[in-house]
Amino acid sequence: MLYINVPYSEKDEAKALGAKWDSTNKTWYVERSADYRKFAKWIVGSREDSLSIVCDYFYVVETHRICYKCGKITRVIGFALEKWWDITPVNHNYNNSKFLFNKEFSPMQPYLNFLLSEFYGYLARNYNYKKGYSKATNLSYFANHCDHCGSIQGGFHLFAEPDSPFFIDSIEKARQLTFYKYKLSRDRIVYDSLEFSTSDYSEMLKTCSNFVNIINYEV
Ligand SMILES: [Zn+2]
Repeated sequence: MLYINVPYSEKDEAKALGAKWDSTNKTWYVERSADYRKFAKWIVGSREDSLSIVCDYFYVVETHRICYKCGKITRVIGFALEKWWDITPVNHNYNNSKFLFNKEFSPMQPYLNFLLSEFYGYLARNYNYKKGYSKATNLSYFANHCDHCGSIQGGFHLFAEPDSPFFIDSIEKARQLTFYKYKLSRDRIVYDSLEFSTSDYSEMLKTCSNFVNIINYEV
């Protein structure tokens, strides 16, 4: 299910295409993901940049690393998607937009910008994942912190370097990962430049990693 932004003057058009009205939240929505393309007018509009729609669920992925500061083993998390639409506008015309449905794992992400702040509060309580300041980059951002000494665990060393725990290139690393699956209460449009790709190691993750369904928490 996806909320779409339909101007009042276009409500009959949206309704004729099958959009439904949510009277509690006062917004139109589309029920089935397979129908999103029909509603490109209210999803893509006059945008020129690509966008994504994350469908049904996402993963908080847990593994561990050795803290560079205290030398102890600490938990770290990242995020992954498995089901999303990539939408590329063509010639400023929403009718020509290319809709591509992905059903493979994305590479691990350090942050997902479509989640509500409430969920980041939940992550801070359950993991030591919270906003922190990095002296190396002079930036404040959401990051993992050591469970023992509280030191910020920089994203580059977790995701981008070949020996990073979330840089998946071997069965050994895939086996260390636990994917916690969180249901989304509704699908989310991601506008700002988050063009996801699919991981080359999707099949390996499916067979070698650990999976846990979170059933009592919806995001
Ligand atoms: Zn530490």
